[in-house]
Amino acid sequence: MMQQVCILGVTGSIGLSTLKVLARHPQRYQLFAVSAQQRIAELVDICSEFNPKRVAIPASKVDTFCHLMQKRHLTLPDIVTDVEGLVAIAEDETVDIVMAAIVGSAGLLPTLAATRAGKRVLLANKEALVMSGDLLLKSAAQSQAIILPVDSEHNAIFQCLPETYHQTISDGQPHHGVAKVLLTASGGPFLHTESEQLVHVTPAQACQHPNWSMGQKISVDSATLMNKGLELIEACYLFGLHEQFIEVVIHPQSIIHSMVQYVDGSTLAQLGAPDMCTPIAHALAWPERIESTVDHLDIFKVSHLDFFKPDTVRFPALNYARHAVRQGGTAPTILNAANEVAVAAFLDQNISFTQITQVVDATLQQVESTSATTLDAILTSDQSAKQYATRLTKERFAR
Ligand code: NAD
Ligand code: MG
Repeated sequence: MMQQVCILGVTGSIGLSTLKVLARHPQRYQLFAVSAQQRIAELVDICSEFNPKRVAIPASKVDTFCHLMQKRHLTLPDIVTDVEGLVAIAEDETVDIVMAAIVGSAGLLPTLAATRAGKRVLLANKEALVMSGDLLLKSAAQSQAIILPVDSEHNAIFQCLPETYHQTISDGQPHHGVAKVLLTASGGPFLHTESEQLVHVTPAQACQHPNWSMGQKISVDSATLMNKGLELIEACYLFGLHEQFIEVVIHPQSIIHSMVQYVDGSTLAQLGAPDMCTPIAHALAWPERIESTVDHLDIFKVSHLDFFKPDTVRFPALNYARHAVRQGGTAPTILNAANEVAVAAFLDQNISFTQITQVVDATLQQVESTSATTLDAILTSDQSAKQYATRLTKERFAR
């Protein structure tokens, strides 16, 4: 049976990798709907190659899109706009699979819509889960949506856990013989950079990831280790674990994508080249396995694998994430919102690299979280944290 796919954020790094995997399996997957925020010329190329039936773009980009499509004599798809458009394609009844690959909090509403509509949701947009946690998982349970992790670490953990692991209601404790999860991190481009130097690093340096080629925001998050903080929270929700059962391990080669340790002393790991097409193909086809376009790992070329503990003095983001997830309620929403504002301010060269985590810390301390995690409570905390963090980047931390 042909599966109909919707890609939210098709012009991004994950969106384009997803297209690569889909193109390898034209008998199995059809691209039904896509969304893009910028890069309208690239979107037109994608429409020319994959011919999606529905496209969601900002209202302000409709004229440009139509003009470029007509110039190339391409048939216009059904065009929907703004957040309503994103939600419409995510919950479209024709769609079987939704790839949630928008970056940041902008992905929350469409990801939630896909989940409520009972789709197979391929979750790359970790911020959506960090913001909404239980709400997203509960709505999946109600609609029987399947959420499959695309984030390479969480996909690895999913692969290393027993198949029946998710069928039990979680109380934060590991079960099925699992003792703990080892969440690996490359350490980012500044793994060995001295504290005094960190103050001066530029956005271009921060976006230069040693192993992965990714969008700007996640590249900066990898450099501050906030990406691992967000992933720690993501893992707590996805696998129903208290944060103390998740240990972060710096593994600079990014060959092992994470591990699960069992009570009998076994440690299971998933290994592969650092290429997102592998987790994308896994999540698309699970429980089957399909080709991903990624070559087999040449184990003879992997000369050695290193592991060490993270330095939370130079990179305090991990501590803030642990604190937020322990606090619960909307504290992770606040952490995520402050980080989003601070990363944008750093990319705009309004604050320094080390101020990113300072903004997060100050916002977490000042903006009160609520224990209720309704959509309203989440959106209110998101807005308050963004307002507070924006003020900080403009006043206290402004360069
Ligand atoms: P990206 O910046 O390359 O692409 C983001 C996509 O989202 C683009 O298509 C863009 O048009 C769209 N978008 C941006 N802002 C939007 C808005 N306000 N409204 C609607 N759409 C918007 O990002 P990416 O690297 O592909 O990452 C996407 C998500 O996947 C992020 O949450 C990231 O953390 C996660 N992720 C990425 C990787 C990776 O290797 N790139 C790995 C793991 C997880
Ligand atoms: Mg990851």
